[in-house]
Amino acid sequence: MKDLSQLDKELIWHPFTPLWEGNDSIVIRSAHGVYLETTDGRKIIDAISSWWVNLHGHSNPHIANAVYEQAKKLEHVIFAGFTHEPAIRLANNLKRILPGNISRIFFSDDGSTSVEVALKMAFQYWHNKGEPRKKVIALQGAYHGDTFGSMSVGERGIFTDPFKPFLFDVDFIDFPTVDNESSVLEHYRKILVSDEVGAFIFEPLVQGAAGMRMYSPEILNQLMKEAHERNVLCIADEVFTGFGRTGKMFACDYIDEAPDIVCVSKGITGGTLPLGVTACSARVLSAFESADFSRTFFHGHSYTANPIACAAANASFELLNADECQQSIKKISGRHASFVSRMSGHKKIKAIRSLGTILAVELRTGEESSYSNELRKKIYPFFLERDILLRPLGNTIYILPPYVIQDSELNRIYSSIEEFLGAG
Ligand code: PMP
Repeated sequence: MKDLSQLDKELIWHPFTPLWEGNDSIVIRSAHGVYLETTDGRKIIDAISSWWVNLHGHSNPHIANAVYEQAKKLEHVIFAGFTHEPAIRLANNLKRILPGNISRIFFSDDGSTSVEVALKMAFQYWHNKGEPRKKVIALQGAYHGDTFGSMSVGERGIFTDPFKPFLFDVDFIDFPTVDNESSVLEHYRKILVSDEVGAFIFEPLVQGAAGMRMYSPEILNQLMKEAHERNVLCIADEVFTGFGRTGKMFACDYIDEAPDIVCVSKGITGGTLPLGVTACSARVLSAFESADFSRTFFHGHSYTANPIACAAANASFELLNADECQQSIKKISGRHASFVSRMSGHKKIKAIRSLGTILAVELRTGEESSYSNELRKKIYPFFLERDILLRPLGNTIYILPPYVIQDSELNRIYSSIEEFLGAG
């Protein structure tokens, strides 16, 4: 057989990866804790939790065991007309911790589908009530996934340009900063006043893909409050921010207003298996509770509530709630905050910020800050050569490690960032 890397190149189309000769994927043989182990013996620190999914370290034995035990008992069953204990237990676990007054849990496959479900739920909510509302408000710079609905409510740009004619219209408001709050609110109120807005969707407090941009809980609370005054459904996309990333269990835990619909995925299984959840309040549910067949939510995926994924999620839930994990989240948050105060004012840093376990360093460059900023071509290989996986968002370096990361490993990452800043 040909070498794995060569075969990969011939056969596989990787996500978010240009198809050109120069791109070789690194073959990973195994992974433990924060380390990705390559076939040629390298151990690379996964400083971004493998696209923000991993919580408790790779190949976590507690989750692996739960997966093994579940796979021997019940690997999958159709989820219409049938149910199972791992899904019921998970729904119960989630109901205890999700923000808002959650009434029901709807399962799907990943972050994008959890958002797709949320949008369809919101549109059908208004349809079922006989007062269709067609407008959606979203934040400029948003990223909610790669399916058509989730792309529609996301920032229009390099990711979505080829699909522009196929995306539905959305009213975008500017990303709120300390300088523009009053103009953002003014614009927002003008859209709300029509009473045609069905939903307001947002990534609470941190826009991940936009470069880990952070905004204040106060403004989010205000936006949600005013949406609720107009009966607009608030959809919190906690796909990235959920399960401790921001220092609290969910980013919405920083605010008083309760979302009507919450999307979660990524960390839900500790990063082991794909699973999406869209949770909704009793108010949303009430529009569907009817003997009228046409009011049914006709949406579902073949692998809805896969028992093995649910078992992984329940095992991850146990680890997440353990004191040890909560202490680690606090420790990482504290260390990031100290790094921010130590480095702020550095001449090569345009902005540096952290919230909980998320740290972002936006570098000064001649160009605008953006995903396609040329600096990423320097950053990525620099850190990889030092066996650290960082996937910059353009000129923004960010870290969000698995919660099992040790102090010495954090030190290695921080000092490599300082080395990069010192290197030309
Ligand atoms: N919403 C947010 C806030 C995300 O950050 C992402 C993925 N980065 C998604 C949705 C889409 O999730 P997935 O990649 O699992 O489809």
